[in-house]
Amino acid sequence: MREPTLGNPQNTIAVLQKYNFVFQKKFGQNFLIDTHVLDKIIRSAQIGKEDLVLEIGPGIGTMTQHLACAARRVVAVEIDRGLIPILEDTLEGYDNVRVINDDVLKVDIAKLAEEEDQGRPIKVVANLPYYITTPIIMALFEQNVPLSSITVMVQKEVADRIQTGPGSKDYGALSLAVQYYARPYLVANVPPNCFMPRPKVGSAVIRLERYETPPVETADEKLLFQVIRASFNQRRKTLANGLKNSAELDFTKEETEEAIAKLGKGPAVRGETLSLVEFAELTDYLSEIKKKRKNSRKE
Ligand code: SAM
Repeated sequence: MREPTLGNPQNTIAVLQKYNFVFQKKFGQNFLIDTHVLDKIIRSAQIGKEDLVLEIGPGIGTMTQHLACAARRVVAVEIDRGLIPILEDTLEGYDNVRVINDDVLKVDIAKLAEEEDQGRPIKVVANLPYYITTPIIMALFEQNVPLSSITVMVQKEVADRIQTGPGSKDYGALSLAVQYYARPYLVANVPPNCFMPRPKVGSAVIRLERYETPPVETADEKLLFQVIRASFNQRRKTLANGLKNSAELDFTKEETEEAIAKLGKGPAVRGETLSLVEFAELTDYLSEIKKKRKNSRKE
């Protein structure tokens, strides 16, 4: 296999000029031009010759070349049709790479993993387009994609939100959702000068290691996520009001207060002070209330 040619600014500029490529802001195009950062991503993703890697948004194929050398096979999904002829050029000779021209949010990744590797857990590695970071990460977790880890470049602020716990201003539904599915690690902070064009914000590489079983048990996973969303929808409101006002839930004020009291919290408690374990416990109390209500209707 060819040694990677991309990764430094000179070669990226040469490719962009050859194709008169115009950056599409709407697709969040900030290409990596730092080989040290690339090496760090590849190393921390712990890719081996047996791995199938999904790359989201290969751009001109910089990281794809490096991934192809480390993995057994790489499937790269790129939305921008204008990049496809460039990828055909830069990925020539890398015969373990498949490029799909599509919006990753429309691709059935579980089916892809089945087709490509009989449904064995895949590794996702990407310099993500920042405008859809959260939907991409949540789709990977929620759509039952067989997954062992996600190693991605995200906005620094998103990395902070993913890693934090109760008491921090960054703590929210994203922190809890990700921490339910995976253990997060910060790999590196990355400054804007490692990209072309330079983003306005700082970036960070994070690795999310998928749990085989979630760290908390709950009687109703769907209800847990509804409760989490409801608790952070109205940040300045109490937990009881957040739950009562949610369009997804139908508990009365008395019922939410009863569940919160069972948790050992006062009526003025706010959602942002609860840990994942407490959210799971609260969900179980609410689930019991729901069941009781159903049974009393039957009688
Ligand atoms: N991987 C390249 C690199 O590191 O130089 C490019 C990273 S750039 C931040 C994000 C890439 O994702 C762009 O190539 C962009 O066109 C692509 N992209 C944006 N939205 C996408 C989507 N919904 N589905 C697939 N690719 C997308």
